[in-house]
Amino acid sequence: MNFFAGFDKPPSQLTRQELEVCYARVMEAALDINMTRGLPSPAQLQLANPYLSLPGTSDFVSRSLIDWRNYGCLQGMPELRELVAEVLLGLPAEQIAVGENSSLALMHEALGYAFSHGFSTSPRPWIKEPSIKFLCPVPGYDRHFAMCEEFGMEMVPVPLLETGPDMDQVERLVASDPAIKGMWCVPKYSNPSGAIYCNDTVERLAKMPTAANDFVLLWDNAYAVHHLTDDEVPNQPLAKLCEEAGHIDRPLVFASTSKILLPGAGLAFFGSSRANLAWWLKHRRSRTIGPDKVNQLRHLLFFGSSKGLVDHMKKHRVLLAPKFERLEAELLQGLADVRQVAWTTPKGGYFVSLDLPKGCASLAVRLALQAGVALTQAGATHPGGTDPHDRTIRLAPTYLDLDTLSMAAKALVVCVLLAIAQNECSGNGP
Ligand code: PLP
Repeated sequence: MNFFAGFDKPPSQLTRQELEVCYARVMEAALDINMTRGLPSPAQLQLANPYLSLPGTSDFVSRSLIDWRNYGCLQGMPELRELVAEVLLGLPAEQIAVGENSSLALMHEALGYAFSHGFSTSPRPWIKEPSIKFLCPVPGYDRHFAMCEEFGMEMVPVPLLETGPDMDQVERLVASDPAIKGMWCVPKYSNPSGAIYCNDTVERLAKMPTAANDFVLLWDNAYAVHHLTDDEVPNQPLAKLCEEAGHIDRPLVFASTSKILLPGAGLAFFGSSRANLAWWLKHRRSRTIGPDKVNQLRHLLFFGSSKGLVDHMKKHRVLLAPKFERLEAELLQGLADVRQVAWTTPKGGYFVSLDLPKGCASLAVRLALQAGVALTQAGATHPGGTDPHDRTIRLAPTYLDLDTLSMAAKALVVCVLLAIAQNECSGNGP
């Protein structure tokens, strides 16, 4: 459907009245499209079908003679740790532990232990500190921000550039404020911009002096193997660089197979220095008899090897890359020459970040919702759900089929152009 039919000029040159006509056509189309969150599509979930019949009555005997059917093995099966450690976390198998089904839950758990007990480097449990602050690169992931709110942590936004967080700001802030105890990092194909932390950024994060002795990087490697192009970005060597810089306990690394197999039915992983791993397992021992080893065996049998996991992700790429290409093509066609409009072209991950002129994002999202296209709420990419410039919208193209995605993107273009026109008319223009 062409919402711009009959106008013989590019969409970006339409007047507000003409855009109102286009918007009325979008409304008439009675769309009902949800692209609020980055869900795998049904075709992606289908790839995991054989996984559902595993492990069956497998007579698998662990090399380490662990009986996977019984209690025990708090750290997780060695074979499974070897399979995922380097590829998902960039760490050796001895330095990771297998958790349950959600890496977010493990991040929450790590913060919980920090609050109740602190790290070995902490002067006292975090709960006893007058305030705890975390650096939050923006645009960022709303669930990270929600976790900060949950723990009563003050969020300090820092701009996320194409090369990673603005390191001049980060270094200045962490050096001067001992209440800043940590920072969220999605180092590869970040949610939502797709930013990739460059070597220089990672080195500076590893080396930077911090006023807090127990400063930690929550290194959320959610998109470790979620490539969309041949330019497959390797895991950054954060742990090695931290060790060389004398900050061995700084990284807390997380990953999961949520978006590799089935969300909620995968496995999550925690990795860090040997000392932090011991800290983690000590506290875990008081809360669980150990993670689900049947699921660990299921993963082992399904992937067979690290290469099996990487090969599996190539099938995801075949399904996902055309969606990102389609979204890009629609945005180019409708918004290419619009002032102060820009979007990211990620090489991996699940999202695209769209920036509009100041003051337009929430209006565009509202117009889209009224027209039957639910987008991620404007502001969700910023701490507290408030984008001070009201500019950024997270786009999640993964779930929709190509035709529906095209329709949603065409409708979005109309809503963006109309929001800009309405904003300018109300005197808030650039
Ligand atoms: N971290 C990031 C950056 C994500 O984008 C997501 C999911 O969208 C998650 C974590 C969720 O991970 P899990 O399913 O392992 O809890």
